[in-house]
Amino acid sequence: MQTQTLGYPHIGRKRDIKRALEAYWNGKLVEEELWATFWQVAETGWKAQLDAGIDRIGVGYSTLYDTVLDWIVRLGLIPARFRELKDLACYFAMARGAPGIPALDMTKWFDTNYHYLVPEIDEVGAQGADFSDFLDLVQRAQAILGERAVPIVLGPVTLLRLARLSVDFGAILDVLLPLYVELLSALKILGVQEVQIHEPVLVLSDAAALRPHIESAFTAFAKAGIHLNLVTYFDDLGDTYPWIVTLPVEVISLDFTRGDTLSLIQSYGWPEDKVLGAGVVDGRSVWCSRPDTVRALLAQLPENARLGMSSSLQFVPYGVACETDLPPALRGVLAFAEEKLADLTLLSAGDDLSTLETAWADFYDFAPANPMVQTAVQAITDQDFSRALPYPERRPLQVKLPLFPTTTIGSFPQTSDVRRLRARFRRGDITETEYQAGIDAFIAYTIGVQDGLGLDVLVHGEFERTDMVEYFAQKMTGFVFTSDGWVQSFGSRYVRPPIIFADVSRPAPMTVREFKVAQSYTRKPVKGMLTGPVTILNWSYPRADVTRQEIAYQIALALREEIADLEVAGARVIQVDEPALREGLPLKRSRWNSYLTWAVDAFRLATGKVKSETQIHTHMCYSEFGDILAAIDRLDADVISIENARSGDQMLRALAEYGYPREVGPGVYDIHSPVVPLIAFIEDKLCMFVQHLKPAQIWVNPDCGLKTRAWEEVIPALRGIIEVVRKYR
Ligand code: GLN
Ligand code: ZN
Repeated sequence: MQTQTLGYPHIGRKRDIKRALEAYWNGKLVEEELWATFWQVAETGWKAQLDAGIDRIGVGYSTLYDTVLDWIVRLGLIPARFRELKDLACYFAMARGAPGIPALDMTKWFDTNYHYLVPEIDEVGAQGADFSDFLDLVQRAQAILGERAVPIVLGPVTLLRLARLSVDFGAILDVLLPLYVELLSALKILGVQEVQIHEPVLVLSDAAALRPHIESAFTAFAKAGIHLNLVTYFDDLGDTYPWIVTLPVEVISLDFTRGDTLSLIQSYGWPEDKVLGAGVVDGRSVWCSRPDTVRALLAQLPENARLGMSSSLQFVPYGVACETDLPPALRGVLAFAEEKLADLTLLSAGDDLSTLETAWADFYDFAPANPMVQTAVQAITDQDFSRALPYPERRPLQVKLPLFPTTTIGSFPQTSDVRRLRARFRRGDITETEYQAGIDAFIAYTIGVQDGLGLDVLVHGEFERTDMVEYFAQKMTGFVFTSDGWVQSFGSRYVRPPIIFADVSRPAPMTVREFKVAQSYTRKPVKGMLTGPVTILNWSYPRADVTRQEIAYQIALALREEIADLEVAGARVIQVDEPALREGLPLKRSRWNSYLTWAVDAFRLATGKVKSETQIHTHMCYSEFGDILAAIDRLDADVISIENARSGDQMLRALAEYGYPREVGPGVYDIHSPVVPLIAFIEDKLCMFVQHLKPAQIWVNPDCGLKTRAWEEVIPALRGIIEVVRKYR
């Protein structure tokens, strides 16, 4: 069978693009050198796919910052405020802002952890397209790949559906379509055989509404006389399948690793005149194919199918081979981009999957199920999910606090001194005792500041944590870490998500020592601070052989032990952060309910067994959760703090309308900004809170953790908060 790819990692094996970008921004690299790095990274990616024997290699995804931004520029959709600037200055201003010019908004690409720049379109018209950089990319790829090079074009309907549009969709689409046709014609002249048009919005719940736009787009494209491959991913097509397979294209590529594409093909059939691009190798997991699953799938594909990746491989790191610290039995089943290419060619050869079978067998010998965890999960009963007393009865037993209690979300400034201390310990320059003494000094200072300012519920500051997920993952069993497994989060920001490979357990307390130290310095209650089960799961690569629900429950049980230990250590208030709860929502609304059910249950499993006297807090960084309020309510947290400083009163209104029954701390300090909030601003916020919520419900706190801010900002900001709160009391 033929094989295809839909995009490849493009940050460079050694984080080359990040390094080059930062050097360029600091004036240490000239533009030619930046482009030299760009081409070298692009070519390495093409060659890897060629060497693996892939037949149709998607090209044109290479970028200095973000592919969506590249298409904004190519299509002449640069918003007016950037047009004074030229070339790269304009490009990076859109990405990162420039003095007096705010950047484009950034948001998550579907349900991945990649962030793209949001197109902003407020006029019907484009300033003239310029595809020269893309055509250049394609030609250079052709020089290496020949006819295997298949240009990847971001489809117009996806571009517009993801844009912030203040004009009519159809009107701006009519402006863009001739530009796309011009591009397709230019590609045809270059001798291109096939073009991938990526339209992932077709898997969204509201895709049916896009039908007229998709039909007019593909009718226009068909006239260019070049083979079109309509590519979708991240879910199945759902109810749009029957009409999408009638579009005038030669190939349709679908994701067989998420949703249920196979059932759609079986119910509605596959059109004989079209090639199916079957995305059978998961572009987003870090595991190699499982022989049984994949064999069953391959047997049911229509005859005119080619095999491919389910999505771009940009969501996984380059390769496993360099991860020599990982045990070989684990490495044998891990598959990053390079191993996935090998996986795909193995599947396409059609015969022997025994190497995969052996690899998985070796892996299970190496990482057998943990009987203690299995027993604990099996022993879960309904009672484990509920607190002993309902909120109105348990609240009087909990901490006594003044009206409008004040607190912070957890972290305090992670100064260079803090980072240096952690780095010295990591390198082995200081002993554990010395390290802990250093951490304790930061804790002492932070408690002193909070006590001095007069906050009501204090935190230790999280100085021992580099990252809120990594810290816990390192202390639990079942997780591994890569040394070079970087993936792009946005622009020059890359992350190395932990990999969950086995049952999760907590061998020893993770946060109790720091809690005790902090509490020893003050009579005020100090919050125990934990990252929630759903967030730990959503910001890691999950294992392939158990459901996400089960992993979340395992993590929840581990956290439950931690919470019990914190109670024993004297914690009266414990916060379990779930900033990633909302972003884990499935793309299709019809699947929201089942996700929210187990996600909320995981939180309840972690927190349900506490004493009635213990006050449970949670924290989320989204203000747009009007649509999941029932789920938030079902968390049954005594207090929830949420990002709010930059929003108006929509969220407060939504809470009031819903009749949210417990306590809420809407943020009054935008921690993404270096600006210290004015007293008048904080007053305005508090004034808004009392209009919508009952006074006894209201907490006052910043939007999120303060780790990225400086003490010089944090102290006056908190002082302002206290001043306003005292007045309102
Ligand atoms: N407790 C964490 C902190 O303050 C919460 C971070 C987050 O919500 N992303 O840093
Ligand atoms: Zn937050």
